[in-house]
Amino acid sequence: MAYDDQNVFAKILRGEIPCKKVDEDEHCLAFHDIAPQTRVHVLVIPKGAYTSYDDFSANASDAEIAALIRMVGKIAREQGIAESGYRILSNIGQDGHQEVPHLHIHIFGGQHLGRMIKPA
Ligand code: AMP
Repeated sequence: MAYDDQNVFAKILRGEIPCKKVDEDEHCLAFHDIAPQTRVHVLVIPKGAYTSYDDFSANASDAEIAALIRMVGKIAREQGIAESGYRILSNIGQDGHQEVPHLHIHIFGGQHLGRMIKPA
């Protein structure tokens, strides 16, 4: 899938639309989800143009991958959910119900999250 530079997260990265920023470094940006599904719901995205985890895992540099993984853990600690526990999730493609075609890792927490997945 070709990267669509008009997707909403690309616009956030270019500063064309605002976000509630949580953290940022050279390779990634973290911000609050606009429609939080749990008490803590933060998204972590790479600054590079990667459509999904599939694209990122195949094509990103080791530095970009390390930065994203470390940022997720850092955000969880900073949000105070590392001890109580949390869930990370990335939707990929059609079966994964991915809505925004720029890789994003959801961090959910601040409450008990129940079972991993709803029965189909
Ligand atoms: P998905 O692609 O299904 O993993 O989910 C996309 C997520 O992006 C949803 O949880 C949306 O609420 C969130 N979202 C969409 N637009 C924005 C925005 N402008 N700022 C923050 N989060 C957003």
